[in-house]
Amino acid sequence: MILGKGKNNPKRNILHCSATTKHITVGNINDYHKTLWHSISNLGSYCGYHFVIDYLGKRYQTREIYEEGMHTIGQNRSSIGICLIMYPDTEAWRYGVEPYMPSREQEISLVKLLKEIEEETRISGISYHRDFTKLKTCPGNLIPASWGRDLIRKGKISFLKRQLFLLRRYLLFLLKKYE
Ligand SMILES: [Zn+2]
Repeated sequence: MILGKGKNNPKRNILHCSATTKHITVGNINDYHKTLWHSISNLGSYCGYHFVIDYLGKRYQTREIYEEGMHTIGQNRSSIGICLIMYPDTEAWRYGVEPYMPSREQEISLVKLLKEIEEETRISGISYHRDFTKLKTCPGNLIPASWGRDLIRKGKISFLKRQLFLLRRYLLFLLKKYE
C-alpha cells in the first residue's frame, strides 16, 4: 500500500461498484475515466478510485492514499475510494446485464484491504457512495446497509477462529512434549 502525499485527508472508506459486467479490467476503468477527466494520478492512472478489486479478488492500487480522489462529490479530499467490479443493482437489467453480487474472493480481498488501511491510517469501517448523494444507489440497491458491517465482523471472527485454532494446536504440542 502506497501512502504518498497530497490533498487528501481521509476520514472514511467509500465503497463503489463498477456498474459493469464481471469481465472488465482496471484498464477498462482507467480508459473510461481518462475520457471523463485528464488528471493522472501519481501512480500513473486516470482511475478516480484509490483501489479497484476485480471479480477474481485481485486488488489494484490506482491512487496514493493521500492523493485526492475523483469518485464522490464532496468527499474527494476526505476519503479513500474503493471500487469492486460488480453490479448488484436492479438497474443493471436496463443495460442488458444480469445483476450480480460481489464474489467470495472479492469479499476476502476487501476485508484484507480494510484491515491494512486501518493499520496504516486508523480508519475503520466502510461507507457507501449513496450515503453522500440522493442521486445514486451505488454500490447497488441489492447491497443492504448492513452488508459492510457484517462483512467486517465476519472477517474479524474468522481471524479470531484461526488464532484460536493455532493456539490450541500449540497447546496440544506443548502438552505432548512435556507429558
Ligand atoms: Zn459510486
